[in-house]
Amino acid sequence: MTGASPERTESLVAELSPETFRASGEPTVDLVRDGAWRAQNAGCDVVISIGGGSVIDAGKAIAIITTNVGEPLEFLETVGKGRAITVPPLPFIAVPTTAGTGSEVTRNAVLGSTEHGVKASLRSPLMLPRVAVVDPELTYGLPPEVTAFTGLDALTQLIELYVSVRANPLIDAICVTGIEHIANALRPAYHNGADRDARRDMALASLFGGLALANAGLGVVHGFAAPLGGQWKAPHGALCAALLPHGMAANVAELRARAPQHPALERYSSIARLLTGRSEASVEDGIDWVRALSEELRVPALRAWGITEADLQGVAEKAAKASSMLANPLPLTEEELIAVVSAAL
Ligand SMILES: [Zn+2]
Repeated sequence: MTGASPERTESLVAELSPETFRASGEPTVDLVRDGAWRAQNAGCDVVISIGGGSVIDAGKAIAIITTNVGEPLEFLETVGKGRAITVPPLPFIAVPTTAGTGSEVTRNAVLGSTEHGVKASLRSPLMLPRVAVVDPELTYGLPPEVTAFTGLDALTQLIELYVSVRANPLIDAICVTGIEHIANALRPAYHNGADRDARRDMALASLFGGLALANAGLGVVHGFAAPLGGQWKAPHGALCAALLPHGMAANVAELRARAPQHPALERYSSIARLLTGRSEASVEDGIDWVRALSEELRVPALRAWGITEADLQGVAEKAAKASSMLANPLPLTEEELIAVVSAAL
């Protein structure tokens, strides 16, 4: 599997005699059906994805559908039948060329279903990649926009995981270190792609996000990313980044109003301290820091992707059913959800 620019992988694939399969954009059920068919016909023994999170998710899904012969939708959760995956996949090797999703160490693949206008996961412990090759050098050539969107996805994931109802001591340390790395490295990596230290720290933070994701759940921002990414052609990280400060603000306001002793509030304070590097930083300072970063990294508002006021109700209804929403620190009402997505418009 490669992404839209296969020339970036030429030096690596020259050593092999592979069947290559190119995918640009985020993976869909159709792409996976097609890829699995190709792998079966070519008698492939192993699947290697060299690319961003989309390419890695596509490869993971192709490796599992190749051996669990059938229609991908049957295995998909939320909109599919959620049929259990029982047969181990072809061995799968992930070589990330972005620093964002951490998909190289997670057990799911997010696929879009054009038919349902939503994204959902194929999920199984069997889907954990056999090998993950994380080499920051492969990210040196990423354009600033991709650095921004993928890096902000990593930040969103780490923040959501750290405050999620499924946070646990195992992931706490990983999240704290990951957030700290992004706070220090994302700006330099965006402004100077050749900054080796910044690229190394972003690659680590992305990997940490994936490790934490495999052991906890996300929240309201990723709850929205599922229906928005399924209906509109927008990079996942751009959607997350536009929603992040508003999702944080809504969660904090509701926690203060409904559950002032909730441990997530203290976690939002430590996030603010990690992001700003200031020991006296308030929760609001943390949210402002995220807002300022999104501005500096030129994250467009949701409207830029064609989303309008008229869409918000439907999007909020779908977001309420997304699997990520179950791990949000507290359940948000439909009205509160509409307020979050409307603020990001
Ligand atoms: Zn994400």
